[in-house]
Amino acid sequence: MRDPAAAEREGPRGHPRRRASVPAFHLRGDDGRGPRRGVGARGGRACGAGWRGGARGARPARAAHREGLRLLPELRKDPIAGRWVVVATERVRRPADFAVPRGPRRDTSCLFCGGHEDETPPELLAYRDAPDAPANSPGWRVRVVPNRFPALRVEGVLDRRGEGLYDLMNGVGADEVLVESADHHVKLADLAPAAVEDVVRALRDRLVALKRDTRLRAALLFKRHAADAPGRLGHPHAQLLATPIVPREVLEELDRARAYYDYRERCLFCDILRQELEQRTRLVVESEHVLALAPFAARFPFET
Ligand SMILES: [Zn+2]
Ligand SMILES: [Zn+2]
Repeated sequence: MRDPAAAEREGPRGHPRRRASVPAFHLRGDDGRGPRRGVGARGGRACGAGWRGGARGARPARAAHREGLRLLPELRKDPIAGRWVVVATERVRRPADFAVPRGPRRDTSCLFCGGHEDETPPELLAYRDAPDAPANSPGWRVRVVPNRFPALRVEGVLDRRGEGLYDLMNGVGADEVLVESADHHVKLADLAPAAVEDVVRALRDRLVALKRDTRLRAALLFKRHAADAPGRLGHPHAQLLATPIVPREVLEELDRARAYYDYRERCLFCDILRQELEQRTRLVVESEHVLALAPFAARFPFET
């Protein structure tokens, strides 16, 4: 694991900016005691006996593994920035990529491909043409599985607590992978409308299921996509993260929308839509059901 700043520094020649692409959450890989000797910026590669390295010497891989299993991820609040950070101890030793395995097989097939169902954790949801087909069998159109190396853990209680002036809680949450097709080589944009509908319905079904978990308060769907790195795209998938905290950015947006409403007695979002539909200078897509637009104060080209 790396911190977002390290991912930012590394840029497109190293791993893609995995963490930087998830602005609402800040995921860290160490246990809060600072960087370890022997584990570089690519800490994800370090594993087994060497993962602690340095002063304490090499430890047997099994002992280190046991310790990792005991150390559940934590959510810690930064009292200066006001944001919650996932401190995910186990992710220090995960393989280089959180979801799609790297290596020679990467560009041909992977554990998300049809026929590899036994390589993932048991599925949480799948749509199949054959209604009586058993779970975790081939023949699915869309499939959702838990992340093999989750940032957050679904088991356990939140146990909100303080440590002096600091606030923390257990890293309870859901970290799921939505596999958009059984075919390794397609892209979401290339799928037939019915297949895209499957993807959206699967997302809806998982959100409805996660909403029943009273520990969880926010969910974020994100998808890495880079036109300049076709070999790195891997299997078409998205990641769904549900957390027991509402990200600061979301809270701020809600606060501003509420303040706008208090002042003008009108909905901010409806007002934006009304003005953009009149001006028609920033519309990207307009249909009966959906409107996509570039924000008036876009932070980067092609932001929608
Ligand atoms: Zn694949
Ligand atoms: Zn509205």
